[in-house]
Amino acid sequence: MLTEGTNLAQNIQTNVSGFDDKNPPQKELIDACVHCGFCLSTCPSYRVIGKEMDSPRGRIYLMNAIEKGEAAIDETTAQHFDSCLGCLACVSTCPSGVQYDQLIAKTRPQVERNQPRTWTDKIIRTLIFNIFPYPQRLQIFLPLLWVYQKLGIQKLIRATGLLKIIFPRLAAMDSILPEVTLNPTAGNLPDVIPSQGKKRYRVGMILGCVQRLFFSPVNEATARVLTANGCEVVIPKSQGCCAALPEHQGQEKQAQTLAKQMIDSFAQTGVDYIIINAAGCGHTLKEYGHILADDPEYKEKAQEFSAKVKDVQEFLAEVGLTANLNPLTEGELTMVYQDACHLLHGQKISLQPRQLLKQIPGVKLKEPVDAALCCGSAGVYNMLQPQVAEELGQQKVNNLLNTGAKLIASANPGCSLQIKKHLQLQGKEIKLMHPMELLDHAIRGIKLEF
Ligand code: SF4
Ligand code: SF4
Repeated sequence: MLTEGTNLAQNIQTNVSGFDDKNPPQKELIDACVHCGFCLSTCPSYRVIGKEMDSPRGRIYLMNAIEKGEAAIDETTAQHFDSCLGCLACVSTCPSGVQYDQLIAKTRPQVERNQPRTWTDKIIRTLIFNIFPYPQRLQIFLPLLWVYQKLGIQKLIRATGLLKIIFPRLAAMDSILPEVTLNPTAGNLPDVIPSQGKKRYRVGMILGCVQRLFFSPVNEATARVLTANGCEVVIPKSQGCCAALPEHQGQEKQAQTLAKQMIDSFAQTGVDYIIINAAGCGHTLKEYGHILADDPEYKEKAQEFSAKVKDVQEFLAEVGLTANLNPLTEGELTMVYQDACHLLHGQKISLQPRQLLKQIPGVKLKEPVDAALCCGSAGVYNMLQPQVAEELGQQKVNNLLNTGAKLIASANPGCSLQIKKHLQLQGKEIKLMHPMELLDHAIRGIKLEF
């Protein structure tokens, strides 16, 4: 039987790539890195772990070594790829235009195929990938989670601290669980919602998985803001998960299947745009062309679909608000906008949310230190790599609080959960709302209470 070591030795002798032949990271993309190191200071995993191999440059070195057969995909190299948050800050920083996003997207499935996971890793990943991307399955767990919280079992478990010692990843999952409510009508939006006043656009709306179950008021607010600004909103009920979660973790097949389902859901809707209010989902929806690049039946459909996708803030800033906005408080309201990585780095959307928020009378925006640094949420990263995520979460919350703002505006459910968790850990109470909820309040003239 061959061992890992002998495999590697043979690869080096014969210069056989350590990647399998199914879509390995492209050599020309690897070679584009000139190893200047500009990306290091903006990389959150490098900041926390402090090792070259946990930086963008280090990971590209590793990819290069594996490609040349000088290193193997094994437990050690897999760890360095796993420690990447996929925040794409390095893509924004790199002066040479290195497409690290494409490199890591190709590397993760290679790791999944070629490096067996430990049994604890397998359990947690099976749980995550078989529940979270399926809202119907997730919904079955809601009554159980409700009982878990209402009977005080959660409090008891947290107080003992045992879960953190025995199953740190389960404890991390528990720590970001929002308060579960059992309102059967929550998030039940009609299939088509007419525009208020003259129709300007017919838009499709993506509901998200976590968003529709744990943040249904955000979806309701988004639909109201869109209709108030002249959009007829179409919400196909056949839509499932956007595929962000499996895509970010290298679960290639599952991501492709979910992406195809999403494309099919909107195929007959005749919408001008497809609108999404969650940063991570929006980035993946715009990547369908890459995800289905090798699928002859869906390749073109995927490109057409992605071309229609707009983040809701990107869309509203582009078409302009037509609805009247009222002040949210009697006096000035200071707020800080939290940049989600998949909006800022993934979609280059940073000005639009700020422009929209500043249009609300009385709003004064503050800017935090290190606005471009990941909060540690990164999809399910905070469940898979809780230690790094903890440190980043603490730093992010400190930076947001140091602005002195009275409210945090956050446009991504993952970031919102992570920030809420760390606010709670620090014993700080500060309102956190999605920009669509703020616009909705401003349109309807509802004042915020502090
Ligand atoms: S990824 Fe870009 S910034 Fe980072 S080391 Fe390579 S060339 Fe330099
Ligand atoms: S995606 Fe983020 S965590 Fe990963 S290498 Fe780039 S900057 Fe670092």
